[in-house]
Amino acid sequence: MALLTKAIKGTKDVLPAESYKNQYIEATCLSVAENFGYKEMRTPVFEHTELFQRGVGDTTDVVQKEMYTFDDKGGRSITLRPEGTAGAARAFLENGLSNEALPQKICYLTSCYRYEKPQAGRLREFHQFGIECFGAASPLADAEMISLAKQVFDELGVQKLHLELNSIGCPKCRADYHNALREYFKAHTNELCDTCNERLERNPMRILDCKSPVCKEISKNAPIVLDYLCDECKEHFEKVKSYLDAMNIEYIVNPQIVRGLDYYTKTVFEFVSDEIGSQGTVCGGGRYDGLIEELGGQHTPSLGFGMGLERIQLVMEAQGCAFPEPNKLDLFIVAMGEKAELKAVEIAKDMRSEGFSVQYDLNSRSLRAQMKYADKTGTKYLVVIGENEVNSGIAKLKDMQTGESTEVSLTTFVNAYYSVSMESQLKDLEINGEAFDFNSLFSGGNVND
Ligand code: ATP
Ligand code: MG
Repeated sequence: MALLTKAIKGTKDVLPAESYKNQYIEATCLSVAENFGYKEMRTPVFEHTELFQRGVGDTTDVVQKEMYTFDDKGGRSITLRPEGTAGAARAFLENGLSNEALPQKICYLTSCYRYEKPQAGRLREFHQFGIECFGAASPLADAEMISLAKQVFDELGVQKLHLELNSIGCPKCRADYHNALREYFKAHTNELCDTCNERLERNPMRILDCKSPVCKEISKNAPIVLDYLCDECKEHFEKVKSYLDAMNIEYIVNPQIVRGLDYYTKTVFEFVSDEIGSQGTVCGGGRYDGLIEELGGQHTPSLGFGMGLERIQLVMEAQGCAFPEPNKLDLFIVAMGEKAELKAVEIAKDMRSEGFSVQYDLNSRSLRAQMKYADKTGTKYLVVIGENEVNSGIAKLKDMQTGESTEVSLTTFVNAYYSVSMESQLKDLEINGEAFDFNSLFSGGNVND
């Protein structure tokens, strides 16, 4: 029985009283992405397992330990997406976007699934805002992508994140680096964890990303990738930094950052917070010039990032960032008796089609119970309609903030409501001593301004 009322470990419900925060974060992400020319793409929650094995990489923690993989009834191996890039890249190829004007700038808000140990900031179902820019080789693209993430944080009012930046080179320069790493780690095979010993031959850079304290300690003195970059990768990295400098975006070069996914080349970066415990990386991304080819497409230099939405919310809450208050109901209609209910239904229909939010009691309860419900759920205005009001066609519209009541006609209710509420808004502005700024009606505005 208990199973019926218990969510799966590592998953989280977002309750109605909280969802405005998610909506605010998500809307901000999408609107910033739009400002950079990104358009939303939606892909399925599951894909063929091979896509992630190929696209994320066999030697990653994600593929080796964290995927939700199962056989469907037709015997196909299916995996719930652990990240967004592989599916987006598959869709880019399958739908012929690769033949359209490049770069193709794609963004998404998506759920991801990883079998990890749940803890603060680490869930088994979590959500990402991600962008992918397919077909852009210039370092301009790397810097623009980072500035997009930074603008999301700025608009949300998130402060004090460190941007950590690195270049992990291309397959050309990486061969030498891999050899240097193997040389170095071979002297420590007794101390390295089993997984890292396996990684030593296949992909020694993964050792640098190991979470075991012992491996981490050994990695501290490992050779540094920046010393092995070829001229092209070096120049690319210098240009990325110069564009970031031009935009006044601060960063720290951290040669330890290699990122969790296999397909990265050249630029990799993370935005990290010190305020939410050890799961402090709120955004990670980089360039993956080899991925599209790996999946069977033409050589298509590309890049992207994934931003953990739960972690961003944790940082925002830790920093006391403002979330705009959810809208209050415009009108609650208390209706007493069948005739009044008919009138309530009619008025609500008219009001709602004019864009106002309206509720009336769905349980035909007593006056007191209806008032109590209206009070609990919150409303800007309340009107009581009983037999007298139905007969006279006149009712009292009560402003719940000031307590003031105004007589209104039930036959022209929408107009009456409109003028009463407008008048009170104008009065509010006078009280605050501000001139009415008509432009404020049209500009987007930033709650943190
Ligand atoms: P970590 O080092 O924290 O495991 P990662 O390198 O595995 O992160 P990515 O694959 O780059 O993470 O995913 C991008 C972002 O998604 C991360 O920076 C983080 O904000 C978020 N994220 C990753 N895994 C989880 C998770 N299990 N729960 C919540 N958020 C996550
Ligand atoms: Mg991880």
